[in-house]
Amino acid sequence: MPQSVIILGGGIIGLSCAFESARRGMNVTLIEPSALGGQASGAAAGMLAPFSENTEQPDPFFQLCLNSHRSYPAWIKAIEEQSGMSTEWVQSGSINIFMHEADVLPIQSRLQWQNEWGAEVQLIDAAQLRKLEPMLAHSAIAGVFTPKESHVYAPKLVAALEEACRRLGVVILSHAGKIEEVAVHHSGGVSVRAETMIKKVHADRLVVCAGAWSGEYERWFGLSVPIHPIRGQICSYEHQETEVRHMIFSSQAYWVGKRNARLVCGASEDVAGFETSVTERGIGRLIRSSNQLFPFLKGKETAHRWAGLRPATRDGMPMLGQVEGMPAVIMAAGHYRNGILLSPITAHIVADLLEEKQGEPSISRFSPNRFTTIAMRGRLST
Ligand SMILES: Cc1cc2nc3c(=O)[nH]c(=O)nc-3n(C[C@H](O)[C@H](O)[C@H](O)COP(=O)(O)OP(=O)(O)OC[C@H]3O[C@@H](n4cnc5c(N)ncnc54)[C@H](O)[C@@H]3O)c2cc1C
Repeated sequence: MPQSVIILGGGIIGLSCAFESARRGMNVTLIEPSALGGQASGAAAGMLAPFSENTEQPDPFFQLCLNSHRSYPAWIKAIEEQSGMSTEWVQSGSINIFMHEADVLPIQSRLQWQNEWGAEVQLIDAAQLRKLEPMLAHSAIAGVFTPKESHVYAPKLVAALEEACRRLGVVILSHAGKIEEVAVHHSGGVSVRAETMIKKVHADRLVVCAGAWSGEYERWFGLSVPIHPIRGQICSYEHQETEVRHMIFSSQAYWVGKRNARLVCGASEDVAGFETSVTERGIGRLIRSSNQLFPFLKGKETAHRWAGLRPATRDGMPMLGQVEGMPAVIMAAGHYRNGILLSPITAHIVADLLEEKQGEPSISRFSPNRFTTIAMRGRLST
C-alpha cells in the first residue's frame, strides 16, 4: 500500500477520493488551483438518480450508478459523522412526467428491466400523479414513480467532505494556482508543483480529478484525455417544502425542492468552452418549462441563476483507473452528468487501486487508456 498520495483537483471527486484514502490510513495531499467545489460540484443539483438517468438498458454505466447509489447511506453517514455537518440528504423519490399518451407506450420495457434491478418503479396515472404532486399542471397525464431516488445539497456535501478531510489530516492546498509541473519518476514516486508553491510536493501516487480540465494532463502522461466542458445553466425559485415534494423530470427540465426553501430547476446542456456565465436563452427555456409544468411559478422571479461545466468524455463514461505504463497515476475524471451520484463508488475504486486490492471487476469498461493510440503512449514526460 502506498504511504502517500497527491490528489489533483478539489471538486466532489477529488475530495471524495481524498476522504476515502485518508480513512484507509494514507497520507493525502489535495491540490486545488482555485476554490474547493468552485466548479461543477458546487453548481450541481445534487440528484442521485440512477434509474431516471439510465432509462435504456442495464449497461455497465447504469450498474456503476446503481452500486454508487446503494453505497450512499453508509457514505453520507461516514461523512456526516466525521465532519459533524449535514449534507441535507433527502430520500424524496422521483417522478418522470409524461404529457402525451405516445410517450407512455414504450415505458413497459423500462419498468420491467429496472424492477429486475430493484427499482420498485411504477407507472402512475393522472389521479395518482396529482395525489403525489398536487401543484402539477393538468397537462401532465402520467408518470413513472421511482421511490428510491434521492438528492443531496451539493455545496453542503462538498463543505462536509472538506471538513471531514481536514479532520482526517488531509493536507489541503487550495488556491494553489496553475499546476506547472508534474513528474512521474522512473525510480518510483511522483512530484507536483503549482504556481504558488515554493517547493514541489512528493508522494508515492497521484490521482487526477480535474473535472473538465483533465485534458491538461495529456502532456504529462502521453494519454489521450478527450474530456470537454458541457455547460449546465440552472436556476432556483423560492419555495415551500410542500409545493414540490419529489424530484420531477420532464423531457425539458428537472425540478428539485431543497431544504433551504429553494426549488432548483435545471439544466441546459450547451457547448460554450470554459464559459460559466448564464444566458437569457438558457435560463429562459427553464422558466418556460417551469411555467408550463407548475402554474404556481408563473410570474415568479427566479431567486438565483448559475452555471457549471460538466466534464464529458467522448463516450459519456468516466475515465477511471490506472494509466497504462504509469502505475503511480490514476485517473478519476469525466463523470459528466452524474459526478455527485458516482462520487462514493469512484472514491472506493480509487482507494482499492491505491491499496492494490482487486475491487470492482467491471471497471475495465471505464479504463482511462481506452482513447489512447500506440503513438501517444511513446510520449512520456520524465
Ligand atoms: C448544472 C449542473 C447540474 C448537475 N447536476 C447533477 C446532479 O444532479 N447529480 C449528479 O450526480 N451530477 C450532477 N452534475 C454533474 C456533476 O456536477 C459533475 O459530474 C461533478 O461535479 C464532477 O466533479 P469533479 O470533481 O470531477 O469536477 P469539478 O467539480 O469541476 O472539479 C474539478 C476541479 O479541478 C480543478 N482544476 C482545474 N484545473 C486543474 C488542473 N490542471 N489540475 C487539477 N485541478 C484542476 C477545478 O478548479 C475544479 O475545482 C451537474 C453538473 C452541472 C454543471
